[in-house]
Amino acid sequence: MKNLFALYCHWPYCLSKCPYCDFYSLPIRPYNETLFLDRYKKEIALIPNTQKLSSIFFGGGTPSLMPIPFIEEILNAIYKHFHVSKNVEISIEANPDAIDLNKMISLKNLGFNRISLGIQSLNETALRFLGRRHSLKTARQRIKEAISCFHNVSIDLIYALPQQTWEMWEEELSAALEFHLPHYSLYQLTIEENTPFFNKKILIPDDITARTLFLNTIQKMDAAGVPLYEVSNFSKPGFECLHNQTYWRGKDYAGIGPAAHSRLGLVALENPRNIDAWLKGNKIQTTLSKKQKEEERILMGLRQKEGIEIKHISPTSISSAVQKGWIFQKGNRIYPTNEGLVMLNSLILELWP
Ligand code: SF4
Repeated sequence: MKNLFALYCHWPYCLSKCPYCDFYSLPIRPYNETLFLDRYKKEIALIPNTQKLSSIFFGGGTPSLMPIPFIEEILNAIYKHFHVSKNVEISIEANPDAIDLNKMISLKNLGFNRISLGIQSLNETALRFLGRRHSLKTARQRIKEAISCFHNVSIDLIYALPQQTWEMWEEELSAALEFHLPHYSLYQLTIEENTPFFNKKILIPDDITARTLFLNTIQKMDAAGVPLYEVSNFSKPGFECLHNQTYWRGKDYAGIGPAAHSRLGLVALENPRNIDAWLKGNKIQTTLSKKQKEEERILMGLRQKEGIEIKHISPTSISSAVQKGWIFQKGNRIYPTNEGLVMLNSLILELWP
């Protein structure tokens, strides 16, 4: 497997806050560009540069709102500090109402080779329910523009909305597949604490409906040549997101920006979910035990179809999970079945009690 080392850059602002979102994102407000840039650059300079960088990911928030010269300065600082792989994947997240074709072209010219669009739905009513600012027309327009500009385009969609049936979701999925994108991130709606959806007591489909939606989605995506490779991610072969694979394979990564996390060997770093504290350079550093590191490897690795090595997992737990149909074993690796992905939390408990 490739040697992976990833850099994540978190941008904390969005045009407005979506009612389901619990990421560290705030409605945009005036900010001091000089102070921000200075902090990002200082953070870059602090990261050990002994490993070759295989991916750079601008996420958020809505990083497509960042001014181009600002992004350029951060990228320059990254290239100055790190040895960057010649096949580096450079991704940016964008929202349909926070980007246009000109900005996409500028990003491409800066070296971005992957764009992930926060489409979230291809149904006008669902877009309004999700509190998205863009219309279905804008969503479709942005996907077409992204295709005209980038080889590697991904869209995010959310399903398992209240009262959503398979037929309703399938219609959206068919519309999404008509774009023949190389990558799709398909998330089931979850209700996170302290979000407006939580306070409004929004009811998501029951476990049986959610299971059907998930398994039917896997089947449909598979038939379309974009199979599942991680519990929420589907791609044509060769278009798996290298950046996220770094997390799922338990490799090292560094994060800059408020709320960003890093894992460098056993060192875990956490930036504050607060812009002022981040600008002051505050961070929490802890050292993971080998047991905690192993737990992370299992927790993250089992999300992927490529599975994990069986080291440190008890044979009794493995055979019990095999009997339940949640995993299968081949050589020294175990692989989750689709049923195992449905039961992911129980599967992890079974293997790492
Ligand atoms: S645009 Fe994305 S990051 Fe921003 S509030 Fe909405 S879901 Fe959260």
